[in-house]
Amino acid sequence: MQMEKLVSLCKRRGFMFQSSEIYGGLNGFWDYGPLGVELKRNIKDAWWHDMCKGHNELLQLNGAPSTYEMVGLDCTILMHPQVWKCSGHYDLFHDFMVDCRVSKKRYRFDQVRGKWVSRGEQKVFVTIMCEPENEQEEVTRRALKFFGLRNKDVGQLVFADVFQSLDKVPAADRVFVLAPDANEANTLTDPREFNLMFKTYVGALSGEEGAAFLRPETAQGIFVNFKNVLDSTRVRIPFGVAQVGKSFRNEITPRNFTFRSREFEQMEIEFFCNPAESPMWYQYWRNRRLQWYTELGLAGERLRLREHEQDELSHYSCGTADIEYAFPFLPEGEYGELEGIAHRGDFDLRSHSEGKLDPKERPLKLELNEHGQPKHRGSGKDLSYRDDLTNERFIPHVIEPSAGADRATLAFLCEAYHEDEAPDEDGKLQSRVVMRLNPRIAPYKAAVFPLVKKDGMPEIAKDIYGALKQKFNVFYDEKAAVGRRYRRQDEIGTPYCITVDSQSLQDKTVTVRDRDTLEQWRVKIDDVVGEIEGRIR
Ligand code: ATP
Repeated sequence: MQMEKLVSLCKRRGFMFQSSEIYGGLNGFWDYGPLGVELKRNIKDAWWHDMCKGHNELLQLNGAPSTYEMVGLDCTILMHPQVWKCSGHYDLFHDFMVDCRVSKKRYRFDQVRGKWVSRGEQKVFVTIMCEPENEQEEVTRRALKFFGLRNKDVGQLVFADVFQSLDKVPAADRVFVLAPDANEANTLTDPREFNLMFKTYVGALSGEEGAAFLRPETAQGIFVNFKNVLDSTRVRIPFGVAQVGKSFRNEITPRNFTFRSREFEQMEIEFFCNPAESPMWYQYWRNRRLQWYTELGLAGERLRLREHEQDELSHYSCGTADIEYAFPFLPEGEYGELEGIAHRGDFDLRSHSEGKLDPKERPLKLELNEHGQPKHRGSGKDLSYRDDLTNERFIPHVIEPSAGADRATLAFLCEAYHEDEAPDEDGKLQSRVVMRLNPRIAPYKAAVFPLVKKDGMPEIAKDIYGALKQKFNVFYDEKAAVGRRYRRQDEIGTPYCITVDSQSLQDKTVTVRDRDTLEQWRVKIDDVVGEIEGRIR
């Protein structure tokens, strides 16, 4: 599937729009249109239902080491700045960027890709920013221009076998780099750290006193409420806390549609358990989360679970696996992260209690109190847990399955997109685009059509529409030929179309058409709601 086709469908049919489009857009920000908002909400609802609300600790084991409880939270986006100091984000949450002195453009150091090209003694590392399938063509075009050659002279150039990212080019060789938007080499600055948190100011205080940050993840709201949850509910370890909400990261190069945005939504669980059991829970959550995507329609080779290498682990993690999807905008064989499942040990609770960071990374200077003793950088609150059965006291270990609602939405859209053929009203095969979305997440569950706009058919169709609408999102359409109406619904993933025709007037039945199999069958009007309900369940 070509990504441009999906992007254009998303705009044309109202899944997603560029934010502030009439003013030229704002890079890295996306709005969800009337269909997109339904799709994304269905995904978030499915997650909330399956992970939290619908989870039944009395019955549900699902391969878990024991039963467990789940509760929810909804925390604020702005939090006390100390939260980000203790979480490590203030000091460690940065990417490296490079600036082009000529074009004034900024790039993420590890995202600039290119290839070595030489001509005789001369060499250049040509970088490009384009779709994977056009990379070689683009490198050739830029290299010819750089050396002042014509197309017919391409034989004079020698190309390296592979593309590589700029951060893999040794520092001494970076003088040979031709930046993505430059015409001469060596225009990029050295890589510099760039904190990804958006800063703002709270209240009327000017200056640093009122400084605060938009949260870059929802997780921290859960940690700082750990005691509140324990004290206000009767949850016992093991238990999980779920939260869905907006997060913000000032990404240097937002790109690939909504994949890397500056404002996005996360669906996160912090699962608190006894340290001795944490390896088992880590395994459980990896499997459980992978299974969730599979059940909703991401299956096969495009979905995979990848365990992080030791040197990839975050500063807090003793084990992380990513659930990844082979998005069509990535080069062949590459995968993009949908969700990370991290074993965070007791890092977060301990840090919010004591305020220690991993000394390997960047130790915080310890401040001393008036008695010359180290001052707590954390809250100073006891965030340990006492097991009232065994009397054991410990700081729980945490397993964190952290998913992105926007990346999941994009993956489901990519996976669903198909082109095939379906017969029109005269039985002639016509090409169609069909979104094979799982009915649970499809924006509309059904569409209702009167075959023609007369003979009482619209009235019957509207009654059916009204009855279905009490249960779920449905669409009513009486415009254009019925074949065209079917195709419009196929394109947005509506699993069932219900048509009222002349036979309906006589025997009170309608046809139901299946989006994927194209099968049609008749159902009594009184049974339509039950029929659709049964099929989408
Ligand atoms: P990446 O390496 O792609 O930047 P990450 O490892 O920083 O992602 P996490 O901090 O683990 O991501 O965040 C958890 C999830 O939040 C990700 O798996 C992803 O689904 C989502 N997410 C993170 N950053 C973005 C973003 N800029 N745009 C959209 N979703 C995001």
